[in-house]
Amino acid sequence: MSFSLFDAPLREPSQFVGFAGNTIDRQSENRADDSVDKALADPTTRLLLMNGGRLHLKLHEGGSLDPWFGLAESQAFKPAFDQGVLLGFSEHGPVVAVLAGVDPEQLPETVKAIDYRSVYMQGLIDEAAAGAMAQGAALLAWHASHRFCSKCGTQSEMRAGGYKRHCPNCGTEHFPRTDPVAIMLTATREKCLLGRGAHFAPGMYSALAGFIEPGETIEAAVRRETLEEAGIRLGRVVYHASQPWPFPYSLMIGCFGEPLNEDIQADLNELEDCRWFGRDEVRLMLAREHPGNLVTPPKGAIAHHLIRAWVDSE
Ligand SMILES: [Zn+2]
Repeated sequence: MSFSLFDAPLREPSQFVGFAGNTIDRQSENRADDSVDKALADPTTRLLLMNGGRLHLKLHEGGSLDPWFGLAESQAFKPAFDQGVLLGFSEHGPVVAVLAGVDPEQLPETVKAIDYRSVYMQGLIDEAAAGAMAQGAALLAWHASHRFCSKCGTQSEMRAGGYKRHCPNCGTEHFPRTDPVAIMLTATREKCLLGRGAHFAPGMYSALAGFIEPGETIEAAVRRETLEEAGIRLGRVVYHASQPWPFPYSLMIGCFGEPLNEDIQADLNELEDCRWFGRDEVRLMLAREHPGNLVTPPKGAIAHHLIRAWVDSE
């Protein structure tokens, strides 16, 4: 049995993916039912304002975008403070994510509401803020879709700074979900397997992915998804990196898989195309120099990091 902890890099691959730069000190052991109230009474508190899958950004002179709102300046955007979540503490003080109540189309010129995916893809805010956005977006999305007790149907109440919901009728406590998704690059030394979904941007090919199911190990899910989507059986599977993915609240778990057969049988319900790519071709796709304009996913995506790590592994 191999044991690789002491050979592992000091900065693990997960630290380089999008949304991984969150520096908030969660202080989860100190969360209490009055945590948000206390934060909202603290003048140093900073807020992330969200609405309908979009983050509010202040447009400063010179064009820079700033996601952080003070308590006083946030009032104009009618935040639902009673449903705010305490993300934790930054060097400036408490950080709260809250839903704004103003139609994004009615915002003043100096404030933009931009969808999370664009904020992340276009690098509109720094990595620490993008990480905080992912944390807040996932929590607010979970609360929005879990307002009632799943055991008895009674409306539940937010507790523990937004890290729990409590049912006042049956007493059940509900905790925020994180849904694990396996994303895997099947590869030999010479070639790797990439596919494209019908909804992908033109020319983009990526690693295959799928939800991990109850009762499954990560490795079993990697093997099952690769067999189901591409007809490729896998031998060895190794973990590489993970990525918080707030669409709405997943954790992407990136792995490499060793193929045992070559003949692809793509599941055309899942994939528009799936094929082998040689190392040189993938290098051109990463560099955006492919003659057929094929591309890999953008730099923040964990698929990009899987593909890059494989290309660089010669
Ligand atoms: Zn209940």
